[in-house]
Amino acid sequence: MRVLVIEDEKKIASFVRKGLEAEGFVVEVAHHGDEGYALATSRPYDALVLDIMLPGRDGLSILRNLRERKVPLPVILLTARSELNERLEGLNFGADDYLTKPFYIEELIARVRAVTRRATGATQGILTAGDLSMNLLTREVKRAGAAIELTPREFTLLEHLTRSPGRILTRAQICEQVWGYDFDPGTNLVDVYIQRLRKKVDADAPVKLIETIRGAGYRLRLPS
Ligand code: CA
Repeated sequence: MRVLVIEDEKKIASFVRKGLEAEGFVVEVAHHGDEGYALATSRPYDALVLDIMLPGRDGLSILRNLRERKVPLPVILLTARSELNERLEGLNFGADDYLTKPFYIEELIARVRAVTRRATGATQGILTAGDLSMNLLTREVKRAGAAIELTPREFTLLEHLTRSPGRILTRAQICEQVWGYDFDPGTNLVDVYIQRLRKKVDADAPVKLIETIRGAGYRLRLPS
């Protein structure tokens, strides 16, 4: 599996390279948008990890040009938390997934695996677990075909759980990923949101997806 990483921040680029190489991926890095675009259009890769703000051609124009040229390369965008519009635009232009900085390398590896696996199917931008589906672009959530209305925060929380089914997420991890700040052990924010999600996602369903792991955190039940 060959992965191209276009990222001008050298520290992030080398962190990504090391992480992916440790998992057996062959990695090439470009620090400049023009160089990256030239590589993406001239050599075969299985996935592209693409930063948005780049010297030269920026990430979104790289993505748009690749899609205009019908290059079917799966693309994962790296975005800053503040780049919400760019992220949505990126999904519109045909990005397969995105990751908000800072991120855990395990998360990136999981996404790269997922998009390369998915590259054969046509489920762009849709996360599923059992009969639950989440469209990352339209923000539509369905359980057994029935639409579920979620607030943006609830959506993000469910998204994090759905991305790693079976994996326990601690309250601190959830807090950091969903709210983006250090966890204050005195607050029950996470528990309150989990309760709300349960009402919306699990209450009417025979199989409960959201599990409490006592003393550890929460996880999405692995669909059997
Ligand atoms: Ca950058």
